[in-house]
Amino acid sequence: MSDDWKQATKMVHGGIRRSQYNEVSEAIFLTQGFVYDTAEQAEARFIEAGPDEFIYARYGNPTVAMFEDRIAALEGAEDAFATASGMAAVNGALCSMLKAGDHVVSAKALFGSCLYILENILSGFGVEVTFVDGTDLDQWRAAMRPNTKAVFFESMSNPTLEVIDITAVSEIAHSVGASVVVDNVFSTPVFSKAIDQGADVVIYSATKHIDGQGRALGGVVLGTKDFIRGTLEPYMKHTGGSLSPFNAWVLLKGLETITLRVNAQAASALRIATTLNGHSALEHTLYPGLPDHAQYGLVQTQLGGKGGTVLSLDIKGGKEAAFRFLNAMTIAVISNNLGDAKSIATHPATTTHQRLNDVQKDELGITPGLVRFSVGLEDVDDLIADLQQALAAIDS
Ligand SMILES: *Cc1c(COP(=O)(O)O)cnc(C)c1O
Repeated sequence: MSDDWKQATKMVHGGIRRSQYNEVSEAIFLTQGFVYDTAEQAEARFIEAGPDEFIYARYGNPTVAMFEDRIAALEGAEDAFATASGMAAVNGALCSMLKAGDHVVSAKALFGSCLYILENILSGFGVEVTFVDGTDLDQWRAAMRPNTKAVFFESMSNPTLEVIDITAVSEIAHSVGASVVVDNVFSTPVFSKAIDQGADVVIYSATKHIDGQGRALGGVVLGTKDFIRGTLEPYMKHTGGSLSPFNAWVLLKGLETITLRVNAQAASALRIATTLNGHSALEHTLYPGLPDHAQYGLVQTQLGGKGGTVLSLDIKGGKEAAFRFLNAMTIAVISNNLGDAKSIATHPATTTHQRLNDVQKDELGITPGLVRFSVGLEDVDDLIADLQQALAAIDS
């Protein structure tokens, strides 16, 4: 693979490893172990395995390595470690770098399971966490301490789509020597330049846009070779959150088409948001690519003007109206994944964010009328017509 290749070329050819049969499509190496020619070779490999030498699938596997190399090329990271799910990636990144007595600063607008790790798990091991409003740089500055080891945030938050300034937060964190760990799912690896912008560690749930067709769970942590192989890999390989070779193959094939898919989904999301913005049944249309979004300027500099593939609609009339709207849709399915080829609608207050109390929901803007809409690959005119009839159906 040439470093000069553009993104789409790297996603088709990056990381490829061919067997003695010279197959065109990537092989699935469904094997947990590897045979050594001699006892001496086994001994040598346990002392130090080369980049293309494998011991046991929990440590690494050729299909998994192809996925890791291809996603590292997309993100512009030195290295990557693939994990069994997005949450195994978040847990691994944080737990491998932190120890009792450390302090973490985190944005409070988080995916429910990320919040659980920061609020419940880390505190049980003596790590203190301060939560801030991620869009307020003064709060980040005020929260830093000499023992702050890491900051954590979703670069685009779920489901309210706030965009956090990676460059500015990284400067603040680096001034006290803290690592910047970014959950980058909503920004997508296609639009993100998080590592260039200052992030030390970038995490994806590969279950979302990387698979892109709702088939497999997976995740990945990206960073420097030092962090990935020196800090994260020992933690992951001994605690067991490694990606299965079969899922790695599904995700590897997902990367072949990710540039096309995510660009098409983002273009449709912008069309839908622009069309529905100001609709009389809506309190608000939230989409980072709309000029009225609070961080629209940052979206231009941080994401090349791309607002992502998800929008959120705040329906007038609260939960009852939101449910009528959801039940009237005929194309989008009601589910809780995102980044899929199928459009997916979610009611965060009663599903993904049900665990939060009313004060927390209110603080994060998760209103009873809020519907998250992940835009798929259907014809955008069909989606707009269906959303418009579902909005009209609320009052009928
Ligand atoms: C889905 C998601 C995760 C968790 O990923 P899984 O693959 O479901 O474990 C973490 N963070 C964000 C922002 C997500 O959307």
